[in-house]
Amino acid sequence: MGRGERVLPGVWRLRLPLPWPGVPHCNAWALAAGDGIVLVDCGMDEPGSMRHLERALEQVGLRLEHVRLLVCTHAHIDHCGQAAAIQARTGCELWIHPRHEHLTALSDDPEAALARRIEVARQSGVPAAPLSEWAEGRRGESSGMSGPLEPARDLVPGVVVETDLGPWSVIETPGHAPSHVVLHQPERRLLISGDHVLGRISLYFDHGYTPDPVGEFLESLDRVAGLDVRLTLSGHGRPFTDLPGHVEGNRALVRERLDAVQAALGARGEATAFDLLPEIYGEKLMPATAAWLLTKTLCYLEHLEVRGGVRRLQTDPQRWAAA
Ligand SMILES: [Zn+2]
Ligand SMILES: [Zn+2]
Repeated sequence: MGRGERVLPGVWRLRLPLPWPGVPHCNAWALAAGDGIVLVDCGMDEPGSMRHLERALEQVGLRLEHVRLLVCTHAHIDHCGQAAAIQARTGCELWIHPRHEHLTALSDDPEAALARRIEVARQSGVPAAPLSEWAEGRRGESSGMSGPLEPARDLVPGVVVETDLGPWSVIETPGHAPSHVVLHQPERRLLISGDHVLGRISLYFDHGYTPDPVGEFLESLDRVAGLDVRLTLSGHGRPFTDLPGHVEGNRALVRERLDAVQAALGARGEATAFDLLPEIYGEKLMPATAAWLLTKTLCYLEHLEVRGGVRRLQTDPQRWAAA
């Protein structure tokens, strides 16, 4: 069930359920703005999802009709899936970063997007049987989007989101997704961090849209590390106070994973990304998470390649070796 709670005067957390293993909820944030609210993020579209959002709003004395503007931290379905439905109901504008092709490629042509993912998995060394089983599970899966994204404005640096708490500035933080931004309110020392920095550290990078998502993510961590922030409102989980500690935790986990990839490759001589999964993730590797972990492993390999630690061999499926 959707749940709403006041975090600060003029700031409400709307906790919306998700149907995903290990990720039970996402947060939308309502910010007081004149006679209405700015809604930051909005949950994915699935049966009953609008009711969850409405219920969370009702619990804090708000209604969907109060939404004057919808702003999304990034183009993942748990953050922007209900955008079209909310716009249809309220007539509000949507603001989101323009680099959202990582999502729109999927929603514009799901068959082609799936075919591309299958080919990436095959090239990464996933054997035919589990791959076709995985692909079967994806076919006909709902998109999580209530309609196409129709932004009125590009959410880029220089754009200001006006609220009763003051203006929020936009900081680009690609890595988790090419379209990721965070919103900073310097006077109140607040940060809406989306999935860039989460309370419980968990890494994810969209693969295949930029040359080095892990490198971008590390740069984006540097970008928020210096901000003066007393409370961070993240895309999942409870608000937290220790932003520098969380930034350092993310850096440490990335280092740990890169070291594990480098060590596993060193021990084996050469391997596909798929070969490396059990050595990097151990018991965390399950059918439900394998595709997600493979994506991340590809991103680590590409980052190590940029840094000169590993190299691609001329093989199909793609094998990698320590440089
Ligand atoms: Zn995300
Ligand atoms: Zn998310």
